[in-house]
Amino acid sequence: MATTSGTELIELETGIFARLHEGLTNAGILVGDTSVLVIDSLRVPSFARDLIQDVKHITDKPIQYVIDTHAHWDHSWGNEEFPDATIIGHENCYDEMVDVEWNKVWRDKIVASTDPWADEARTVNITPPDLTFETSMQLYFGGRKLELRYFGRAHTSGDIIIHLPEAKIAFTGDVVQDKGVPFFGDSYPEDWPDTDDGIVGLDVDRFVAGHGPIGNHDGIVEARDFIHVLVPSLQASIEEGQDVGSATASAIDALKPQFSDWRGFENLGDSVPLVYGRLTR
Ligand SMILES: [Zn+2]
Repeated sequence: MATTSGTELIELETGIFARLHEGLTNAGILVGDTSVLVIDSLRVPSFARDLIQDVKHITDKPIQYVIDTHAHWDHSWGNEEFPDATIIGHENCYDEMVDVEWNKVWRDKIVASTDPWADEARTVNITPPDLTFETSMQLYFGGRKLELRYFGRAHTSGDIIIHLPEAKIAFTGDVVQDKGVPFFGDSYPEDWPDTDDGIVGLDVDRFVAGHGPIGNHDGIVEARDFIHVLVPSLQASIEEGQDVGSATASAIDALKPQFSDWRGFENLGDSVPLVYGRLTR
């Protein structure tokens, strides 16, 4: 089927789809008895409309739910295109999406870029979730149980995991990616190791992250291990009084043996200082 250019729809199980977008942001599509649930609304309204179009390749049922894995623009700034759907997210995701200052920083950055969506980002009507939860929520949809779980702060303050226990599938947002370095600029590195310890305990065979390919449980363990090497290395360097340059170099040395094949490893010189900044703020 001809979906949006650069995207691929993968049916993991009957009615459970991953919509992977090469180099950009992934989404999930779950088909229920009478309606559809979408995971992440993507970066700007036109991207959300493309997603809605791709859903129509699968089914003509209406989209009843949108789940935001977290508040980052590239996952949630398409929310306004789903006026008839209930948008679900973590309470902290809501707080971040109504944080005018935080979103202004992001919008200024995106608008100033040369990306094709830069202009459209000017006009996005940032639309927060209208149903939130604190630690967990169950949703019974299309004969399946969905567990929405919050394990603590990590990549942002409000990252959730959408777990389908019978299918052993999880949608993990940007907290856990398959061999991919996450963005650290809004992260909570002091909490992230514990959060990952919770996620790794989920009964999951396959997971769909916000970016990159589909992973298996080993990928979740590896993502946990990455954070468990990175954060203590930086914390030790900070305790020793090392500056950002030498702390970054030590952290990269510590990560190199196990993670040098990861997407984004070559940019750690830019991303590790963000973690250092968060740990010393
Ligand atoms: Zn993100």
